Amino acid sequence: MVRFLFRSMLCLVSVLLVAPSLTAQEIRPTPAAAWQRLKEGNARFAADAFAIKDVSKKRRAELAQGQRPFAAILSCADSRVVPELLFDQGLGDLFVVRVAGNIAEPGMIGSVEYAVGHLHVPIVVVLAHEGCGAVQAALDGKPLPGQLGWLVKQVYTGNNLPAEKGAALAAGVRANALHQAAALIQQSSELAELVAAKRTQVVVGVYSLTTANVTWLELEGKAK
Ligand SMILES: [Zn+2]
Repeated sequence: MVRFLFRSMLCLVSVLLVAPSLTAQEIRPTPAAAWQRLKEGNARFAADAFAIKDVSKKRRAELAQGQRPFAAILSCADSRVVPELLFDQGLGDLFVVRVAGNIAEPGMIGSVEYAVGHLHVPIVVVLAHEGCGAVQAALDGKPLPGQLGWLVKQVYTGNNLPAEKGAALAAGVRANALHQAAALIQQSSELAELVAAKRTQVVVGVYSLTTANVTWLELEGKAK
């Protein structure tokens, strides 16, 4: 009994000695825990129940020492789709790359590789949204000048779209998001290895401009 108490005390002392060096930011969440944190943040945003963010001088000074985001987001650049806001997260929480149509082009893929390979981010979200102009432009199929023409050609709208315009856009948004997520994994051997090892998860969400909720799509087997 005495020996047991002594061991327990020793254990407690070692925890107390180690604990101060580990902050919540430094403990890497699992992919499931990171996803849950995003879901809870989105629920707060949709309910106008935002968490209080620490953006104080002290917090900024901490972050100046290094970043430890818990999620990487490949999002559309649409001004109404702001990952830090719609997931209700603070400074240093999200590693966000944004491009119209949330396309997995080389610069975006390289940025995500940095997030998962160097920052050890456990989850990657491809974030599309309702009423995406890039997807609508791809559906319209009109030639566009400059680099915008190239960008819109990277958007994948899928086959057998509904005839009704709004339904076609919604289906195109989903098809493109799934396609870009699959492309992200296929074009990055580093990410594919981390996904296979279950150290990183890639998930796909569609943000609703009207409800502010993110709907999560099934990635496996549906991406083309
Ligand atoms: Zn968009």
